[in-house]
Amino acid sequence: AKTYATRTGLFGKPRVVAAVREVGFDLRRGETLGLVGESGSGKSTTARLAIRLIEPDRGTVRLGSLDFTALGPTSLRDERRRIQMIFQDPFASLNPRRTVEQIIAGGPIAHGTPARQARARARELLDLVGLPPSAAERYPNAFSGGQRQRIGIARALAMEPDVLVADEAVSALDVSVQAQVLALLEDLKQRLGIAMLFITHDLRVAATICDRIAVMHRGEIVEMNRTEALFRAPEHPYTRSLLAAVP
Ligand code: ATP
Ligand code: MG
Repeated sequence: AKTYATRTGLFGKPRVVAAVREVGFDLRRGETLGLVGESGSGKSTTARLAIRLIEPDRGTVRLGSLDFTALGPTSLRDERRRIQMIFQDPFASLNPRRTVEQIIAGGPIAHGTPARQARARARELLDLVGLPPSAAERYPNAFSGGQRQRIGIARALAMEPDVLVADEAVSALDVSVQAQVLALLEDLKQRLGIAMLFITHDLRVAATICDRIAVMHRGEIVEMNRTEALFRAPEHPYTRSLLAAVP
């Protein structure tokens, strides 16, 4: 559960918004769970809770037998690499003063990977996400939104995570690049045995990549099922209205 205290206008009375209530799900290795819902339904808040970018009012995040929510700062620093996030806004999440290679290799180096090895891996990852070797020496502002999203994916994968949280990772991309990045994520998930939480407002995109889909509505998961079953036999009225809107 996560609430925010917000103020409407300069003199508005503070009020408390429940962004997420009692959201619960399991993720298995090699599985992609979709988190689908309209704007403001609490998807990004759920993602931020999962990686402990924000703290829940109540509840826990477990990684195997590890209670991720109970970790102190030092162990959190060590364990954080196991859950990586691809952010909704690629423009805001890449340090403009670092080269692409520094961005991708920086995390592993901070976690003790020898610099030479981390840089070599960064170049491999660039290739894997479909960027040319020359990208390594350039800065984020030299790239388009889709290219920055690929850099963000490479940065996340460099940490060799167990869990990948992708928040609207393809929403800002044009359709052909979207398909490429989806195929890339699918391939990586299979090969690396990553568990993926795939957040999107777009049910069609979710259907192409997710094994199961959780539908979020006003801060709650109102329905969760295998993708095929959800499309065939939606139970919650909100899920039905979402499906009706899919052409
Ligand atoms: P979108 O599809 O637009 O990205 P979302 O499903 O990711 O939406 P969240 O960003 O999780 O939605 O927001 C859920 C609710 O929490 C919204 O009502 C939002 O206004 C509120 N909220 C989110 N972040 C904050 C914050 N930092 N401070 C106050 N309220 C917030
Ligand atoms: Mg969001």
